Amino acid sequence: MPHYTGSCHCGAVKFEFDADEITQGLSCNCSFCERRAAIMLNPPVADADLKRTVDGDALSCYQFGNKVAKHYFCNRCGIYTFHESMRKPGWFRVNLGAVDGVDSFSLEREVFNGRELL
Ligand SMILES: [Zn+2]
Repeated sequence: MPHYTGSCHCGAVKFEFDADEITQGLSCNCSFCERRAAIMLNPPVADADLKRTVDGDALSCYQFGNKVAKHYFCNRCGIYTFHESMRKPGWFRVNLGAVDGVDSFSLEREVFNGRELL
């Protein structure tokens, strides 16, 4: 299984995980995801399998609506790195644009209708 590494833009938040080769991603059309326009890891990775390395207090969390999902971002460079799923708490979707060696714009993409949920 391939090993992936990634980071925010400034490098204060780094992460690693193992996943099947990434050939597709997921976008969501809820009010938040539409604004950030990210392409996310699909399927998600389990909390225990996402290794996170954070410099000090660089990682912040944003929540809205039913406050189940946890949207993490680097508070130094502003980049969204990963979030804990609303539909599957304990599982994380990673921002594929922040993963080394993945051309996120070239991936097949499923659009999740989150607008209907939030
Ligand atoms: Zn950063």
